[in-house]
This record gives sequence, C-alpha cells and structure tokens, in this order.
Amino acid sequence: MPSYPSAVRLREVGLRDGFQNEPETVPTAEKARLAGMLADAGFRRIELTSFVRPDVIPQLADAEELLDAYEKRPGVAYSVLIPNERGLDRALARRERFDEINVFLSASETHNQRNVNRSIAESLAGLERVIGRARAEGLRCEGVISTSFGCPYEGEVPVDRVMGIAERLAEAGCEEVGFGDTTGMANPRQVGEFFAVARERLAGVELTAHFHNTRGQGLANVLAALEQGIDSFESAFGELGGCPVPPGSTGNIASEDLVSMLEEMGIATGIDLERLLEASRRVQEVLGRPLGAHVLTAGPVRWASATGRPAAST
Ligand code: ZN
Repeated sequence: MPSYPSAVRLREVGLRDGFQNEPETVPTAEKARLAGMLADAGFRRIELTSFVRPDVIPQLADAEELLDAYEKRPGVAYSVLIPNERGLDRALARRERFDEINVFLSASETHNQRNVNRSIAESLAGLERVIGRARAEGLRCEGVISTSFGCPYEGEVPVDRVMGIAERLAEAGCEEVGFGDTTGMANPRQVGEFFAVARERLAGVELTAHFHNTRGQGLANVLAALEQGIDSFESAFGELGGCPVPPGSTGNIASEDLVSMLEEMGIATGIDLERLLEASRRVQEVLGRPLGAHVLTAGPVRWASATGRPAAST
C-alpha cells in the first residue's frame, strides 16, 4: 500500500486563476467578501489577485482596490501574482496588505512567447530581478512553472527542462515552486515519475502541484503526487478558471472536490467543507450560472448516505 502525507497545505487560487478567466468582471466588494469566506472556511493560503496590466486582464484591474478592501486575517498568507518589475512596483505600494508573491513562466518556449511575449531566458532574467527585490522586502516567493506536464503548442515538455527552470527559480530565492498542468495534459503515471525526479533535484524546496481538470484527470493526478509525498496543492473553489487555449476548457481542480477526497482518505486539510461550499454557492449567485465542482452538486459524502434514496442505480 502507498503511504500518504497525514496533512496537506492548500492554496486557494480561485480569486485570481479563476476570475481572470471568467467572461464577467466580479465586483471588488464581492471579491473581498469571498476572500473572507475562504479564510472562514479554513484556508491559510489565499491567492488574491494579480498585478498584470489592467488592459490585458480587465477582470483583475481592481488589484489595488481589492488589497485595500479585503479583511486581512491573522494566520493567513495572502499572495499576489507578479508578472514583472512594473507589477511589483504597483504591489509594493501596498506592501502591508499581502505576504507572498508568485511569479510565473512557461516551460514551453511557444507557450511563454504567446503568454508573456518573451523567451524563457528573458522571463527568467526578469523574474530573478523581481524575486531579488521581493525578498529584500521580506516577501516569500513562489515560482510557478506553467505547462510543466505538456504544452498545447509543443506537446511533450522535457522533465529536465522543467527541473532546470525550477532550479533557477529556487536559486533566485523561491522557497516554493509550483508545477502547473495549465491545459490539463498530465496523466497520473507521468505525475508520479515527474515528482520522483523533482524531489531528488529540488531538495529543500517546497514542491506544489497545480493541476487543472481539463480532461477529468485532476484528482487522479493529485493521488499520484500524494504517493510521491507531495503535500502542497493549489485549487480553485467551484472549479473556477480555465485557460483560453483550447477554448472552453474547464478550470483548476475544484477545491471542494479536492478537500472531500483528501478528508475521506484521512488526510487533514484544515478546511471546513460546508463553509467552502457556501463560498462556491455565493460565486454561483454572483456569476449567475452553475459551476463545475462535483461536490457542489452532489453535496458532501455524509449527506448522500443520510438522504440518498436507493433506486435501481448501480
Ligand atoms: Zn491554474
């Protein structure tokens, strides 16, 4: 039998990774309220927003306003996504309103060019300056590597290239490296082999798995990562998010589905599932449509056994 971690750390990324891909722009006051609901649900890591150019991602153009508006809770590490030094300058004007930054680049040249219009080498050079300045400000840094498990333009992404980028980020000062399956191409066998290598090459670095459920394999990939001892995950409530490529793709793994699975496995998450579902229901009201998370539809496991009506189903 595989052994699993007894507890995990979860970062809720729906307010950023989720909302940036929604067609609607959620009002700042709603975002602030949801940040509070997520903290109430027990999240100790919450990604709030991103300091990308407002004209590029208008859904997050209110980054400053949100940092001013939300209630910052003790014991919660709030992070913001920083694309470049200009974004860092904007964020640092509100230095006391967040605890961590995350920076990102792709492991695929083509994806990186299309995403941020730079080569991987140019991105790394710029991010090293961002990380250096952020560290000098006492900020914890996470580096996220998109398309770590495959690229829609290039196909297979060599593990060695991903590890090389991760090592550069760690040397620059990232205490944590996140590996993104940005368009949901990973499979569990690949994930297991990937993290076996990562644990060896990146000793001392917190390794975080960021899976998308684009092809329904998100939680299977979580299981494969758990079996390699990975105990840090990112997810989005409601299964918010997605990626413009390919169009219509579903989003990050749903926080409620992840929490439900882990808790049923006896792995502590620190999350109150009922309160998390309240936050997801609130988003459904705000967006005016149902979201994709399974547990949001089916309810927690205990409800089903208490109220489920057995029929001729198998
Ligand atoms: Zn994501």
